[in-house]
Amino acid sequence: MIYEGSVFRPPSEARSLIIQVTIGCRHNQCTFCSMYKDKVFRVRGREEIRQDLEEMSQYYGREPLRIFLADGDALTLDTGLLLEILSWIHELFPLCQRVTAYGTAGDVLKKSPEDLSTLKEAGLAMVYLGAESGDDHILRHVRKGLCAEDMIRASEMLKKAGILLSLTLISGLGGRARLREHALLSADLVTRIKPDYLGFLTLMLAKGSVMKEEVNSGAMELLLPGEVLTEQKLFLSHVDAEGTIFRANHASNYVNLRGVLNRDIPAMIKQIEQAEMMEAYKPEGWRGL
Ligand code: SF4
Repeated sequence: MIYEGSVFRPPSEARSLIIQVTIGCRHNQCTFCSMYKDKVFRVRGREEIRQDLEEMSQYYGREPLRIFLADGDALTLDTGLLLEILSWIHELFPLCQRVTAYGTAGDVLKKSPEDLSTLKEAGLAMVYLGAESGDDHILRHVRKGLCAEDMIRASEMLKKAGILLSLTLISGLGGRARLREHALLSADLVTRIKPDYLGFLTLMLAKGSVMKEEVNSGAMELLLPGEVLTEQKLFLSHVDAEGTIFRANHASNYVNLRGVLNRDIPAMIKQIEQAEMMEAYKPEGWRGL
């Protein structure tokens, strides 16, 4: 099996077998994202996908592994094809523990509740949904193509189908101008969704991204490490999502935080305040995606 172009996966899928069912991202327009800019989007042919699974089953077919469906938005696949892929996984990897995928809220909203329930029954355990912000102004600015209400409706559909939801937000996405709105409206979004998992990354811009050019031209001001922590503290002191597993321990984060909301919020705020006092932030050179 040869991967086509760079392959991305969530940190928690580091040990998973990655199978590309699409190449790139159908939307591919978010101004902060350069992950799939070198790819022309396509859904892979069913024979290609079957071939990859057969080949990998010769090595891992008897292992209790996890499988992650890449690239950017596997849920864009027709439900029939997704069900066929899940049945192949069941056949070729009988000990597979779980199957997960990236999915956009737009793709979830295009599925029916019955589609999602069938996918869950067929083995789709969790979807990683990039909400990025609860602030519609920011979502429009970064050309996400979706609003906060779309994220909420898609999340409700996934939860009703029994599919676990891992939501992602990006610290600093609104720059200095929207720090407060980003923190408060994202806290409101998470409070309304109450995802199973919440990942908080920190904005990092690759060369060539539209947002990088905005920053270079002075149209947008990036947050300094201390400001990122101010934003996260504001978020944590307003969010109410009992039981959500919170992770801000990605390579991009200046301070690694992890805990369970709401229980661990005071401890995480204290950790932020200690880091602020000591100015103990991850050095820029150590941050990486
Ligand atoms: S952030 Fe997600 S939806 Fe936006 S371009 Fe990147 S992969 Fe596609």
